[in-house]
Amino acid sequence: MNMELPALKNEILKCTKCELARTRNHVIFGEGNTNAKVMIIGEAPGRDEDMLGRPFVGRSGQLLDKILEACGFNREEHVFISNIVKCRPPGNRVPTTKEAEVCMPWLQKQIDLIDPEILILLGATALKYMAGPDHRITREHGQWLQVNSRWTMPVYHPAAVLRDPSLKRDTWEDYKKIVFKYRELVNPEH
Ligand code: SF4
Repeated sequence: MNMELPALKNEILKCTKCELARTRNHVIFGEGNTNAKVMIIGEAPGRDEDMLGRPFVGRSGQLLDKILEACGFNREEHVFISNIVKCRPPGNRVPTTKEAEVCMPWLQKQIDLIDPEILILLGATALKYMAGPDHRITREHGQWLQVNSRWTMPVYHPAAVLRDPSLKRDTWEDYKKIVFKYRELVNPEH
């Protein structure tokens, strides 16, 4: 493990920099391989995540795990999963701009320390705060962007795919591109 990450985790778990600290049960640091070459960035913890202290453990998380499995990835080995904000917004609302801006330096430090080759942005909120407010998930999913000089792929959030199964086909095509890039950049045998 990158030796600076445990210290960062301790700091993040104590964070009270925004209003979300008042209503959370857990701060969700993220999980996975801290040497992973793929980092997955979602929006915010939901109810299940807040109760259990882990990212993506509800229905969306189960779908994400299935998608990762189909790509030959798993949480322990190939990816690290985190969110734009690390505490649950009440009622699972979208984080405010202020909450996102206050929390994102934590995410940026995680990205710097984990140093992935590929970023996967799950949904509109991750795309907006990582790439900028002019980006649109409906237009740009499946297209490679460069964010902080890293190969970055926006895809539909698993919750959106659960709400609208017609997005499954595009989503699978998008993840296929991620697997091809992983073979190119990380492991040709994958
Ligand atoms: S959401 Fe982020 S900034 Fe706000 S309290 Fe939680 S960890 Fe701190």
